[in-house]
Parts: sequence; structure tokens; C-alpha cells
Amino acid sequence: MQPIEGLVNALLRPEILALSAYHVQDATGLIKLDAMENPYSWPKEMVDVWLALLRNAEVNRYPDPSANRLRAMLRIANNIPAEAELMLGNGSDELIQIILMGLSGENSVVLAPQPTFVMYRQIAVSLGLHFVGVNLNEEDFSLDMATLRAAIDQHQPKVIFLAYPNNPTGNAFAEEDMVEILRIAPGIVVVDEAYAPFADASFMQKALDFPNLLVMRTLSKLGLAGLRLGFLVGHPAWITQLDKLRLPYNINVLTQHTAEFALSRQLVLDAQVQCIRRDREWLATQLATLPVKLFPSQANFLCFKLQGNNASEVFESLKRSGVLIKNLSSAGGLLHNCLRVTIGTPDENQRFITELTKVLRH
Ligand SMILES: *Cc1c(COP(=O)(O)O)cnc(C)c1O
Repeated sequence: MQPIEGLVNALLRPEILALSAYHVQDATGLIKLDAMENPYSWPKEMVDVWLALLRNAEVNRYPDPSANRLRAMLRIANNIPAEAELMLGNGSDELIQIILMGLSGENSVVLAPQPTFVMYRQIAVSLGLHFVGVNLNEEDFSLDMATLRAAIDQHQPKVIFLAYPNNPTGNAFAEEDMVEILRIAPGIVVVDEAYAPFADASFMQKALDFPNLLVMRTLSKLGLAGLRLGFLVGHPAWITQLDKLRLPYNINVLTQHTAEFALSRQLVLDAQVQCIRRDREWLATQLATLPVKLFPSQANFLCFKLQGNNASEVFESLKRSGVLIKNLSSAGGLLHNCLRVTIGTPDENQRFITELTKVLRH
């Protein structure tokens, strides 16, 4: 019997051994403004009705494998084109994995502008796919179309991911650039609309206008991150094939019941979104008075670059004073000296600004 390390190293694929695990910061006791969660809980009356509903959930039975009722409600809530098909995932993370499983293969390339959502690369690499990142323009994080055209031509990617708006930068790319990519891409283009509730732009109504477009959304940023529910919209020809890769009961009974209930109370969620959008503007106004370069955001967070201060030091000082945000600077590259803050409640936002103002050297 070999020592266990030898066995592990001999049996696992080298790309898995080289991966680092997705790291989540410990937020115990801190104001949590690091993970794009909705800071609001539900009114007590709503929690009571929800819990009463869950009493009837049959956890001894398998869930509806196609979650038909939930999918019908999602169609209405998201104004999904009638001819488009949709499939559900255990978070959009699972849908990214399913898409990449379907398109993996010898020499398959996955391409995305960067910096962007790290799971595109993480999942691609875990499946043995080659990931190509193309830098955004440093000035405003817009798409560098000249470099993208050349990279698409050179690598012929099977999948391109466009987070719209982009995480962690917050901006939505120019629509004409997105359309050009859809036209020139030899493979699928996934438009990831995780931040749709906070954005003014969307490709959902164009879901059938391109043979290679898939539109992905999630309930996580809307306020249901704990449920793990994402969905993918596109031509039935694509979704029917990809659906074969979905594990039959990927959306559990409690998630199905809870999501149906939450969607039946959409007005509560919408009101929370309106507060977050309003407070995003308040926070932006406050940040604009500080020595930072603030990037415009259509998401529920703000990304900013420190001027004359060190991002890692500021991040640590904020944490010591009880406020947890995200240090993007450690990723390096275009994110050098950048921080990201999720919009919290008005009190949390005020506390963040107060502490940040104290910490920054003017
Ligand atoms: C948060 C996020 C996701 C992940 O969503 P889940 O549904 O929680 O897995 C996907 N894409 C982007 C761009 C995100 O920021």
C-alpha cells in the first residue's frame, strides 16, 4: 500500500491537483458585504406562511424531476419568450458545469473576458478544458474588441462567457460589442445575467434571435442565495440536449416549494431590489467624495480602485473594524488595488463609509 499522498497524486488528473479550491471568507461577527447577497430577510407574516407550506413538503418523495410548476412561474416572472426552453440548475454554477460538460472534448477552448466570474475558469479547468482569458480595457473595463476578435479567430472557442453585468467590475458591456461577439463566435455564447434584477439591459428578449445564444440567470442575487437555483434559457434544440446532462433530481423539494412561494410574493423581492438600487446610488455618491476611482455599476455591488492607499491594507483595516468586503487586489492584473463592496442595508452602508473614510489617507 502506497502512502496516501502518493496514491492521491497518482490517481487524480494533474489539472485537479493544480487547482485551488474556491475560497469563502469567514464572516463570523462581521458586517457581511463581500458576497453580493441581498441583506434583507422576509417579513414575519411571510415567513410564517412559508413555514406552514413547508410542513406539507413530502421529503420522503423524490422532487418533480422537471419542476414544471416552478419553471412556469419563472417564465412569467422573467418574461421568458414563449418559444424558448428553460432548464434549472442547482445555482447557475451547476449550469456552467453542465454546459461545459456538454462541450468538453479534445482541444476544446473556453473563452471569457477577464477579470470576470472565477467559476468559468475553475469549472473549465476541472473538466480538462483549456481556458483563455482576454483582458478588458483597463480604463473602464469595457470589452477590448480588437484583441477579442483576434483571440476568437485564433482559438475558435466552443464557449464564450459574457457576464452581463460583469462581476467583479459591475459594468454592463456595450450591447453592440455583445452582438458582434454573438455574430463572430464559432461556438456558444452564454450571457450570464446573474445581476439582471439590478440592471437595465438584458438579452432575454433576444434569446431566440441567435442560434448560439444561451441566457443564464439565478435567484441568488435577487435574495435567495441559500436556495441554489439558477436557470438557462435558449433554443429548445440546445436545452433538450444539455438537459440530458442534468442529474434528474437536481432541484430539491425544499428549493422547489420555497422558490415557488417566493415568486408568488415577487412584490416583496422587487421592493428589496428597489432599495438596493437606490442605496447603490447613495453609496456611489459617498465614494465619489473619497480618493478612489469608482467604476459605474449595474449590479448590487460597487468596484473601486484606491488612489494613494494600499487595497490590502485598507481591506484588513476594515475587517478589523468589523466590515467584511472583497479584496480584489490579490487577484492582481487589472484588479490591482481594487476593492468590491456589496450594497447592504442603509445602516451597513453608512458604517462601511464611516470606517472607510477613517482608514483612507487623504
Ligand atoms: C454570483 C454569480 C453567479 C453564481 O450564481 P449561483 O446561482 O449562486 O451559482 C454566476 N454568475 C455570476 C456572474 C455571478 O456573479
